[in-house]
Amino acid sequence: PDSLPLDISPEVSNNGTLSFDRRANATFVILARNSDVEGTVRSVREIEDRFNRYYRYPYVLLNDKEWEPSVVEDVRWRDAGSLSFVFGVVPSSDWVQPDWIDEDKAKESRDKMVEENVIYGGSVSYRNMCRFNSGFFFRHPLLLPYRWYWRIEPDVHFHCDLTFDPFVWMEDHEKAYAFTITMYEFERTIPTLWETTKGFWKSVWKSFGGKGGDFMKQHPEYIAEDNSMGYLSDNGGDTYNLCHFWSNFEIADMNFWRSKPYMDYFEYLDSKGGFYYERWGDAPVHSLAASLFLPKSKIQFFDEIGYEHNPYTHCPQKEETWRKGRCTCDRGRSFDYDGYSCMSKWDRIQ
Ligand code: GDP
Ligand code: MN
Repeated sequence: PDSLPLDISPEVSNNGTLSFDRRANATFVILARNSDVEGTVRSVREIEDRFNRYYRYPYVLLNDKEWEPSVVEDVRWRDAGSLSFVFGVVPSSDWVQPDWIDEDKAKESRDKMVEENVIYGGSVSYRNMCRFNSGFFFRHPLLLPYRWYWRIEPDVHFHCDLTFDPFVWMEDHEKAYAFTITMYEFERTIPTLWETTKGFWKSVWKSFGGKGGDFMKQHPEYIAEDNSMGYLSDNGGDTYNLCHFWSNFEIADMNFWRSKPYMDYFEYLDSKGGFYYERWGDAPVHSLAASLFLPKSKIQFFDEIGYEHNPYTHCPQKEETWRKGRCTCDRGRSFDYDGYSCMSKWDRIQ
């Protein structure tokens, strides 16, 4: 992206005299537990130092349990109370395993995954979290006023100064979804997700009275003509190659998740129970939707954003970008062209 000159000193920003032509209707969103307080504070400090002290976007922190007052105090105090932090609780109906899920069947599947050493294979709370991030966070009352969000997790790192506003940039360039890292999913966690996604197209097709022919052209909101199928599949959609955007980092337009096509898709997936009978992640769910429902021009890879979530780092590949951002990451060790990265699949459809 073109950048705004960021030769503004922090003193100027602290005087409250900082002004930009435009701000986006945007917020950070952090889902965390009370026990994540230290990691949350560290992530917030880094994004403040590298970006947000010049931009002043607010934070919404969500938790499935009541926030402990000491945690609220701790987060607010570390940032001198000058920022806008709002602490919210997720309604349990948006979080817990629905009672129409067959718990015997779900348990059997979890036990098997534990035997097979699948990461988080035995965890119900991890599944709740994935389902919440797939279908609920953007409907939380505290997020409803906003269009754009930047998802942040405890204990992540931002390695470069960000010298432009990615929300405004995305709005101006008509983007809907942005990522920094893409990789393969563990097949064991989503054995039927691709077939279920195909089942969704069929059900939509039928509900529109389609018999064949031109569904894509008639309903581009359900499957974009210029989609990113070539990134998701190496055989024109027959099978899924497991590539997805790593969703612990996301900057995106919530109007996309709130749209009828995405909500229909989520409801369909949810009705099949795969968040609990398997271990569907929000990353592949978001990625399949963004890649198929959006034209590929609406998905942005931000090379400029140096980002680390253990164990992987994206470091800007362009030397000029890396210098300008005063990055603290090693360009040679960026995940982009690691054997486990899907960046080359993304590049090939560009
Ligand atoms: P990973 O990145 O896939 O290894 O999963 P994480 O453990 O980092 O969880 C993803 C995000 O969800 C992080 O922001 C966590 O703080 C949050 N999270 C995970 N499980 C829970 C939970 O049970 N309750 C709450 N409130 N947050 C959770
Ligand atoms: Mn994480």
